[in-house]
Amino acid sequence: MKKINLKDLYEDKGCLSEYDPNSLSYDKAILYLEQLIQPIKKTKKISIEDAEGHILATDVKSSIHVPNYDNSAMDGYVFRHQSLKKNNNKVKLFAKILAGHPVDSNKTSNVCFKIMTGGMIPKGFDTVIPQELVKIDNDFICFDFQPKKGANIRKTGEDISKNEVALKKGTYLNPLHIGLLASLGISQIKVFEHLKIGFFSTGDEVVQLGEKIKPGQVYDSNRYLIKSFIRKMNLHFNDYGNLSDNKSKLEKQLKKASEENDLIITTGGVSVGEADYMKEVLSNIGKVLFWKMSIKPGRPMAFGKIKKSFYFGLPGNPVSAAVTFLQFVKPSIKLMMGKSRFEPTPTLEAKLGQKIIRKKGRTEFIRAHLEKTVKGYHVKPLTQQGSGMLKSMSDANCFIFMAEKEEVLEKNTNVKVILFDGLI
Ligand code: AMP
Ligand code: MG
Repeated sequence: MKKINLKDLYEDKGCLSEYDPNSLSYDKAILYLEQLIQPIKKTKKISIEDAEGHILATDVKSSIHVPNYDNSAMDGYVFRHQSLKKNNNKVKLFAKILAGHPVDSNKTSNVCFKIMTGGMIPKGFDTVIPQELVKIDNDFICFDFQPKKGANIRKTGEDISKNEVALKKGTYLNPLHIGLLASLGISQIKVFEHLKIGFFSTGDEVVQLGEKIKPGQVYDSNRYLIKSFIRKMNLHFNDYGNLSDNKSKLEKQLKKASEENDLIITTGGVSVGEADYMKEVLSNIGKVLFWKMSIKPGRPMAFGKIKKSFYFGLPGNPVSAAVTFLQFVKPSIKLMMGKSRFEPTPTLEAKLGQKIIRKKGRTEFIRAHLEKTVKGYHVKPLTQQGSGMLKSMSDANCFIFMAEKEEVLEKNTNVKVILFDGLI
């Protein structure tokens, strides 16, 4: 295989148009995408209420301590540690402290307070004992041990201290991050602008919903599949419809889309069939960076650039389109939106219910069903694995991951599983 020089790949038109490796490995493709994709630069200020699914454009520092006062982690009683003995403690109860109602402890000595969770620790007091561990004798709190100094107290700044970076630039914001920002009193943040994404499907045989399907035609499932994936990322795409397999029309539309979007996604027409024009069209108006992957399903997938916008030409087969979208396009979108690294796909191990034999050479995503039993996780491949079969993909709840060099996965051994929940 010809050695690939990224710089040439990216800058040299001749090299690019010639570049047709006899398929690129999954790992290399990820490495290249990580190196080639640049984040968009535009940022905007938004409310944290709208921030989920955006990527933070600056570090966020805390302007306060969290918590911003020493407080009780339990419902219990708060003491001055120095006044406690190893046993036979009997301390007079002075008053009650509720969360949000601090008390003045100045004139107290040798007493304790009843304190509720979140209640502010009074000055000079330092130790909380949960209410379950004491006995009450009239106005006295009794216990037969010496607690540790500082027990059950949440110290000022123990979660985050003032001026500490609470969230880093490049963080893909999820509900936990939103909660954290709120805990710092931050209502507005700077994020990267959402990407402008353009999409069209291709194929003379592809018909739209609402039309009557004739023999030789298929409904345009890819449009809805990709649209839903993108919606799940809180994004949307500019829909350029379905184009017939006509070279000049495809070229015109791709050019127009590249002027209007940061990223273009198409499906179909990237293989080596007679009416597969996307690669040729891409090389006419832009750069083909790579297009043949050693993965299954999804071998043909074109990745390239047209002026400032990136382009993913996904295969027409719906399962291949789904797999290439999830494995390459989705993480690339996050990179373009400012995320710092390509996200590794989280996997778990499960016991394989039946032997899998295959020809090695491609990273494979085998549709499968994962079940949790008393003995742990068990996974079984589904019988239908055709790349056009969306039904078996929608019946599956995970992929079994097979690395390029693997030929056999033995029954009852542990295999790598990628859960749909989290991936999709
Ligand atoms: P292609 O990649 O264009 O060679 O298409 C491969 C297979 O995917 C063919 O059987 C197509 O009919 C099918 N296909 C292409 N585009 C779509 C689409 N938008 N929705 C459903 N199936 C499609
Ligand atoms: Mg086609």
